[in-house]
Amino acid sequence: MPEATVETRASEATHSGSTQQVDVAVVGAGFAGLYILHRLRKAGFSAVVLEEAGDVGGTWYWNRYPGARCDIQTIDYSYTFDPELDKAWTWSEKYATQPEILRYLGFVADRYDLRRDIRFGTKVKQATWDDASERWLITTDNGANVSCRHYIMATGCLSSPKPPEIDGVKDFKGEVYFTGRWPHEGVNLKGKRVAVIGTGSSGIQSIPLIASEAAQLTVFQRTPNFALPAGNGPQPEDRRTFFETDRAAYREQARWSLAGVPYPQQTVVSWQLSDAERRERFEKAWAAGDLVHILTQLWADQGVDVDGNAILCDLIREKIGEVVKDPETLAALTPQDHPFGSKRPCLDTNYYATYNRPNVTLVNLRQEPIKEITAGGISTDKRSFDVDVIVFATGFDAMTGAILAVHPITGRGGKSLSSVWAHGPQSYLGLTVAGFPNLFMITGPGSPSVLSNMAVSIEQHADWVVDRLIALRDAGFTSMEATETAQAGWAQHMADCSMLTLHRLANTWYTGANVPGKAQGVMPYTGGVGPYRSICNEVVGRGMLGFHLKGPGGAEQCNDGEIVRLQPDVRLVLGMLAEMNLPPIETMGAAGARDFLNEFNKGRPAGRPVGEVGEGMLQGADGPLPYKLYRPATPGPHPIVVYFHGGGWVLGDHESDDPFCRDMCRRTGMIFVSVNYRHAPEHRFPAAPEDGYAATRWISEHAADLGGRPGPVLVAGWSAGANVAAVTCQLARDRGGPQIAGQLLLSPVTDCIFDRPSYVENATGYFLTRGLMYWFWDIYCSPADRTDPRASPIRGKLEGLPPAFVTTAEFDPLRDEGIAYAEALAKAGVPVEQLKARGHFHSSFVMVDVVITGVPGRIKMAEALRRFAGLPAQMDTVRRAPPPEVNAAAS
Ligand SMILES: Cc1cc2nc3c(=O)[nH]c(=O)nc-3n(C[C@H](O)[C@H](O)[C@H](O)COP(=O)(O)OP(=O)(O)OC[C@H]3O[C@@H](n4cnc5c(N)ncnc54)[C@H](O)[C@@H]3O)c2cc1C
Repeated sequence: MPEATVETRASEATHSGSTQQVDVAVVGAGFAGLYILHRLRKAGFSAVVLEEAGDVGGTWYWNRYPGARCDIQTIDYSYTFDPELDKAWTWSEKYATQPEILRYLGFVADRYDLRRDIRFGTKVKQATWDDASERWLITTDNGANVSCRHYIMATGCLSSPKPPEIDGVKDFKGEVYFTGRWPHEGVNLKGKRVAVIGTGSSGIQSIPLIASEAAQLTVFQRTPNFALPAGNGPQPEDRRTFFETDRAAYREQARWSLAGVPYPQQTVVSWQLSDAERRERFEKAWAAGDLVHILTQLWADQGVDVDGNAILCDLIREKIGEVVKDPETLAALTPQDHPFGSKRPCLDTNYYATYNRPNVTLVNLRQEPIKEITAGGISTDKRSFDVDVIVFATGFDAMTGAILAVHPITGRGGKSLSSVWAHGPQSYLGLTVAGFPNLFMITGPGSPSVLSNMAVSIEQHADWVVDRLIALRDAGFTSMEATETAQAGWAQHMADCSMLTLHRLANTWYTGANVPGKAQGVMPYTGGVGPYRSICNEVVGRGMLGFHLKGPGGAEQCNDGEIVRLQPDVRLVLGMLAEMNLPPIETMGAAGARDFLNEFNKGRPAGRPVGEVGEGMLQGADGPLPYKLYRPATPGPHPIVVYFHGGGWVLGDHESDDPFCRDMCRRTGMIFVSVNYRHAPEHRFPAAPEDGYAATRWISEHAADLGGRPGPVLVAGWSAGANVAAVTCQLARDRGGPQIAGQLLLSPVTDCIFDRPSYVENATGYFLTRGLMYWFWDIYCSPADRTDPRASPIRGKLEGLPPAFVTTAEFDPLRDEGIAYAEALAKAGVPVEQLKARGHFHSSFVMVDVVITGVPGRIKMAEALRRFAGLPAQMDTVRRAPPPEVNAAAS
């Protein structure tokens, strides 16, 4: 049945005295408030929407400045909840104008008869939770106050315009306008001298149109922004065809995508493409005029890696340079201080070309700040500009502004939200706040919100909230509140996610930097729309994890905990592996498992270029062994690191950890020699450690021939390879050399017992399972031999070993034996550093360019190796993000 004709219960609001009584009060009648009202009514809740504006529309009611349009293609920036509605409305353009979007929202309000439950011209001033009645009391500036069980803030992320921070606005005798509060009757700028302050989205959209009307336009710019030609017009053929062919599939793909627009995840990284290929992709994206396309579809590392991003920045700067004629204006307009995408890029129509007009002047506030606004115009510290009109395009107090403008919001125990958020917004899922029962925020800070197509994110939030209210009611509960544990866990997850992208590297309204005195931090969730949706679903699937539910007669349920403890990219990788539904590796047989690993490795990103990669043969314990050598691009001779790959002594070879060796070669500036020691079952214990030792000896003796620095070598290894590396150090000490300057042990196997807690906690689910470890050990080593220190180095003598750096991962069966080895080394007087990697799994650090959150850990490992080799810890040849706050605790 079409949604519009579904019988909806008329909202049964009642009045007691001067207070309106409803089940749910919603603040805001924009995209969010309208849909929530529709859903609440359908679910049989009585509801009222309180809206300051005179009609529906939210953003699109207020932002009527010239050129106002959406910047997500309008077929995507639409409701999707009702297929009939979807078909009933056709957009006229790729990017609809503000009047058309406002008409659409009016059409929706009419279609579902929403206005009858909306109180327009009503501003919410305060909200107070009453614990005894479990209700919120909402105070308004117009008409009755409202008492409600649930209070939903659909107040908008970009609805609280930022006041001007300049002295003297009141003294100005001319006209003053704000893009976010543009007069409904329009403004006549013909023949006038106009100043526009601000070059964010609103400025970039309006400046070309203002310039074409005004006699003179002076633009005051603090920070230049990247803008791309919108190429507006009819809907592009390819998108329309995809949409028309299967609308349901199109919408569903959007819901699970990264940004709420159906585009696939890119897998090709920038250095796998030639200059010509990169340019071709870029030109296509530039011509497409599509923000999400250019933000996500060029190469996989563009949004997560400064180098991959810098290539794109250079290409865009080139485009700006082709348009702007005056060199000084060009220099001022060209962004240099932030990665592309870390600040919201804009779509424009003739923006840069506008600065070639004779009636347009750009004032670079970085060089001449505004001193004051006078009666007749604007003065910088160098000049004065006489103007008739000032347009403030200075943006919004984003994400938290409209929420905190309702003041105070008083929760349980009399706590006010503004005090709880004094140092930045705290939330669980960006939806709820501990201490504020039955309060919900739509697209609140901590949710994907402004980093997504908000139509998709709004529907997801509205559905999640209304579905919870229904479930609560059905179960007889009357209140729900996030727990402090869940909220703290979400803050940690948010911080982990923000390490994934480059948003943290720019001062923007995403981080609160545009508002003086506002707490700083990346406010939207940067982990993506699809992953976020799956987390919200998981909260429900795990029995409302992190929520305290209460009902009459003392009924209570609290399933406390943190919803995501894995690093965000580790969670994705493990999710993808789970979806592949692979048979356990230990059921494949050794040959089958090797084939599987080879195939699996073909799908991973190729490692980055190093100075030179060579291959050769060296002398092992019982014959020649192949090796692969990675040489840095810097002048040598370099110290040599002998590297032993992972694979449980059964799988892998000198090439299987190729991306890791490349990465570490680049980060350390050292030669890495990856050795193919012999494997079980063909060669059981002690073939592997004996080869490890022999290879290290050979490499040390041939250091000069290999182009390396003569003298002590270093050893490193991962997993079983780390076991080989650890044993090699013991053998080298006991057998008279070679000299080893340091050992890097990455998730090492150090012991043959399986009862440490990490074996139990991580027995399944994290790729390296307990079953797989049993299998490796069984193939490799007979039970009688396992206590030999060459198999279990923790059982050997540890005094006199080279300094060690031991990395362990939280979700790894081998975690505790790695920690135990590090502690035992320290006890034996060996200098040891440990990296206990929170939220990581066994393979995190070798999945280079897949597990991005592994980068800080590899930086630490590289620094340790350099110190062991007597070099300064830092090297500058790898361009990388500023030192990350390591999401792994080094101790
Ligand atoms: C110019 C512009 C272009 C944009 N383009 C896009 C785009 O292309 N794609 C995209 O995804 N997003 C875009 N956005 C973001 C846009 O804000 C959201 O897409 C969406 O419109 C938000 O809807 P909402 O209902 O959550 O909030 P809003 O539309 O902001 O509505 C919130 C409403 O709450 C009311 N309100 C707030 N506080 C109170 C109070 N205390 N009492 C009573 N009423 C109150 C406000 O008056 C407002 O009407 C754009 C934003 C702007 C400003």
